[in-house]
Amino acid sequence: MTFEELGLKSGVLKSLKTLGFETPTPIQQEAIPHLLKEESDFVGLAQTGTGKTAAFGLPLVSKVEEGRKRPQGLVICPTRELCLQISKDIQNFSKDVDVNTVAVYGGTDIVRQIKEIKRGAQIIVATPGRLVDLTKRKAIVLREIDWVVLDEADEMLNMGFKEDIDHILDETPLERNVWLFSATMPKEVAQIAKNYMEQPLEVSIGHKNQTNENIEHIYFTVSDRDRYSAVKRLIDFNPNIYGLIFCRTRRETAAVAEKLGKEGYSAEPLHGDLSQAQRDQVMRRFRNKDIQILVATDVAARGIDVDDITHVINYNLPDEIENYTHRSGRTARAGKHGESLVLVTPRESYKIKAIEKKIRTEFTKGLIPNAKEICEIQLMKLVDNVITTPVKEDDIAEFLPIAMAEFEGFTKEEIIKKFVSAEFNRFIEYYERAGDLNAKDSGRRDRDRGDRGDRRGNRNDENKTRFFVNLGKRDGLNPGGLLRVICDSTGLRSNSIGRIDIMASFSFFEADNENVDRILSKVNGSEYEGNQVSIEVTKSKNVKKKRGGSGSRPRGGGGGNHRGGGGGKFKGKRERRAPRRRN
Ligand code: AMP
Repeated sequence: MTFEELGLKSGVLKSLKTLGFETPTPIQQEAIPHLLKEESDFVGLAQTGTGKTAAFGLPLVSKVEEGRKRPQGLVICPTRELCLQISKDIQNFSKDVDVNTVAVYGGTDIVRQIKEIKRGAQIIVATPGRLVDLTKRKAIVLREIDWVVLDEADEMLNMGFKEDIDHILDETPLERNVWLFSATMPKEVAQIAKNYMEQPLEVSIGHKNQTNENIEHIYFTVSDRDRYSAVKRLIDFNPNIYGLIFCRTRRETAAVAEKLGKEGYSAEPLHGDLSQAQRDQVMRRFRNKDIQILVATDVAARGIDVDDITHVINYNLPDEIENYTHRSGRTARAGKHGESLVLVTPRESYKIKAIEKKIRTEFTKGLIPNAKEICEIQLMKLVDNVITTPVKEDDIAEFLPIAMAEFEGFTKEEIIKKFVSAEFNRFIEYYERAGDLNAKDSGRRDRDRGDRGDRRGNRNDENKTRFFVNLGKRDGLNPGGLLRVICDSTGLRSNSIGRIDIMASFSFFEADNENVDRILSKVNGSEYEGNQVSIEVTKSKNVKKKRGGSGSRPRGGGGGNHRGGGGGKFKGKRERRAPRRRN
């Protein structure tokens, strides 16, 4: 299905070309034709990241009267962050039509917002509290509103906006239509639908309370005192992480961010004790990828809609299960893959089961990576950085002879060893004494799960073999491409391939041991975009096998597109050194 077939205004279609939207997402396919044609109420159950803003934004821009510069469409959303995001999206959709959108939200100058509304706008995007303020001041008239969109309705109710929403809906005319979007359908949301809508069309992308299928949920059992060390290992194991760590309290958030910052990680806190200006600044830097890791409370992180987040780390579980859906939904947006990692103590591990039931998705049991695995990944990252760093011939020309003279007499191998050691020794030293952080699940959970959890854990360890591939990013290889090569030549299904790491000039992947011979014989000699593919079993895996090594990695999603090397992804990132402190 194309956007042209959905019946949108030509000016709106033009803006989609500029935005590069080619095919409507499932929620857009379901919602747009209905919202354009029917004067009816609507309930869309969809996660953030599914394209729901365009699902309501495009019909709204198509429907409002261009000549009538009075509020006709109202979008209500839980946070200032989301409010700005939605208004920006709607402004992008209306570049080629005469439709004005104004965003109104708390924490900034109300007088300026009143002036903007007075200048004339067909669409208002608002947070509930500020909108109520404006209606009380009679700065905004809601009696000509034809469409009210309630976005992230469950979030708004979680945040205690029920009264404000009731007030706003009561101010709008009875004939208006309500379009409600929500990730989950708790009874409070159902109540709004019951009170304010008449036989709404209900569209559900996935089933109710389900989380995005592109998210892999992995839990790790650690003792309480090892939470912080475990988080550090997870970060070290994923050097290209662009992630969100959720903590339960402001204090914990501040403490974790501070500790990470002190140890050289690119991490900042986001919580309610910061001023609005500080929060805006942190968010701006996170969006720009000047910050690699944001440590946040649930409340502060509400409405964070940042694409490309690769990992959500639950430092501990939220008190409310509903909040887990919101946390994990911050990753795997716009069709990408993401991982939601959860740290639980043995006593808490039963809670995983409750979440699995709620989100109807199984967790994988992961093991906190051991020192050797982390060192291997970090070393690869270092090598990758060195290989991909451009050489500025002119700038270094005058210094080069001195360096060359110093290195005279060293062989190539010796020089490589020295460079690697200079950069890497601290890491190796730190991890030398690092023990196993994995704690045993409680007996109850083991019983509850049968042996599913354990088998999965072991499978990741002993039943997988890691392969080296001679091609990398520079050869145009990406996780999908590598999967295609392996599956096409062997006839294996993609789910028998595990973690994939694409570096600049080489790559790695994991596969089930039983397929090693088949993979070696079939993949070797095949072609990828004109290049001969050559693979071999990595040495480190052999070593590990001999030792009967224990540390299994968190299982990879088999080609998440966030993986892969390439330094410089995070612009303002300080070059991170090995953590200084010992465990
Ligand atoms: P949303 O769920 O509205 O926050 O959208 C998630 C992301 O998907 C945003 O970055 C949108 O710009 C993008 N997006 C939405 N619809 C489409 C589409 N049909 N094609 C490509 N990207 C889209």
